[in-house]
Amino acid sequence: MPDTMQCPVCNHLGAATDVRCIQCGSTLIHEATGHSEGYRKATDYMDARLYGGIGAFFGFAIVATLLKFILVSPWLSDREIYAVAVGGAIAGGVAGRLLLRAKRRGY
Ligand SMILES: [Zn+2]
Repeated sequence: MPDTMQCPVCNHLGAATDVRCIQCGSTLIHEATGHSEGYRKATDYMDARLYGGIGAFFGFAIVATLLKFILVSPWLSDREIYAVAVGGAIAGGVAGRLLLRAKRRGY
C-alpha cells in the first residue's frame, strides 16, 4: 500500500506521513528515501527541539531538587533557587543538543 510505511526498527506499520514510529519512537523520515531536503531539515529541527527540551527539563529538575531538598541551603531563597535552576535548564538544553550532535556523528 502506498500510504503506509513499515518501521525499519520494529516493523510496525504506520502512515507514510508519520515522522516517528508510534510503537518504538524511531525517526522514520531519516530511514525513508525520496524526501526533500527541507523535510529532513524540519525533522532535524524537531529533534534538536526535543533533545534540548528534555535536557532543559532535567537540568532544571536536577538543580532545583539538589538545592531545595538535598543540599538544603538556608542562605538561598526560593527565588534564588529558581534562578540557579534556570541556569541548570540552559546548561541541560545545551547538553541535550550536544548529545544529539554526538549521536548523529555516530551514524
Ligand atoms: Zn518502530
